[in-house]
Amino acid sequence: MKWQYRCPQCGAAYPIEPGRYLCDICSKSNKPGMPLQGVLECVWEGTPVLHDDDIPLPVEREFFPPVPVGNTPLWAPTRLREDLGRNKLWLKDDTCNPSGSYKDRASWLVSAFARKFGIHEIALASTGNAASSMACIGAAAGQKITVFLPKSAPVAKRIQVLQYGAELREVDGTYDVAFDQSLAYSDAAGVLSRNTAYNPLTIEGKKTGSFEIVRDLAIQGGGEPDHVFVPTGDGVIIAGVIKGFEDLVKLGRISKMPKVWAAQAEGSSAIARALAAGSFEFLPSNTIADSISVDVPRNGSFALEKLKMHHGGAVAVSDKEILDAQVYLSRASGLFAEPSSACAFAGFLKVQHEIPIDDTVVIMLTGSGLKDIKSAAAAVGAGL
Ligand SMILES: *Cc1c(COP(=O)(O)O)cnc(C)c1O
Repeated sequence: MKWQYRCPQCGAAYPIEPGRYLCDICSKSNKPGMPLQGVLECVWEGTPVLHDDDIPLPVEREFFPPVPVGNTPLWAPTRLREDLGRNKLWLKDDTCNPSGSYKDRASWLVSAFARKFGIHEIALASTGNAASSMACIGAAAGQKITVFLPKSAPVAKRIQVLQYGAELREVDGTYDVAFDQSLAYSDAAGVLSRNTAYNPLTIEGKKTGSFEIVRDLAIQGGGEPDHVFVPTGDGVIIAGVIKGFEDLVKLGRISKMPKVWAAQAEGSSAIARALAAGSFEFLPSNTIADSISVDVPRNGSFALEKLKMHHGGAVAVSDKEILDAQVYLSRASGLFAEPSSACAFAGFLKVQHEIPIDDTVVIMLTGSGLKDIKSAAAAVGAGL
């Protein structure tokens, strides 16, 4: 099995090694305030030597830090199913990851890559969850983590960063400013960047959820997934999830690609709008769902191509629909997800009339509700 980076835009190939992030050729057209061009994809060729349900990854297992990332529950929410009249609805509960979000899957792979190449420090910009995640995994691995976080990040996510012992650099500005500052910092010798989309391993790490969905549906007699709803901001999770299903088709573990839906907040819906209109148009973001609130989706171009290629869908929901779905999900299933994740459920509720009643539907719940209680507090009528 041979691994390399490949540019989906021009086809150029590069070795997977430190210092390599974007395609040399296509990244020349990068402009500030635009989705990244030349985002690389991890590709493998040849016959993988895999056991049963192993996941092909570009870093060997021995380098993964000792912390239980992934293998999160795939639930059958019986009461919710009855309420909706849908017997084939599943919840993929990534609130159970060590730092409480899906981001741990990417941090885990980036950390393993750093260990493999003897790199002791990782830097990143984040709106919150990527930072708390990298800090958590870095603590398990014994790596120094330097985080550039806008001051507006929810307090629980900032406290997580400090709790795990990462170095916190608060940024007086937006995520875009933090992104630039973190890159300037990590250009300093020997520091690996975990900036989302920019480091291709952040996409590849996020495919592991798809492998678990397929494995756990089969174990529970659920067949193959027909629809998967993914909360989407920068478009890294959704691109990774689609990449996972591509791998699963290539390996013959599923017969067809499921329809993957990008669920976005109306106030931050660049990818959904681009899927409908054919090209990007950017507006300042405005939503209570902080993890999916982006002005410019960093991985927008790559995610849009993948959605188009596989006939994916997109749905945008209002903040009110997100908060209503957050409460409904908690009360009908016992799962408390943060607003971004509730957006995936709200998106499903909005388009469910388009989905045949016997189709297998998976909702990806990517972050714990305890990470951002401000908006939830308002929705349940509590003061803070
Ligand atoms: C980051 C994040 C998302 C969105 O992922 P993107 O790759 O930015 O699209 C969704 N939910 C949670 C909890 C997140 O932390």
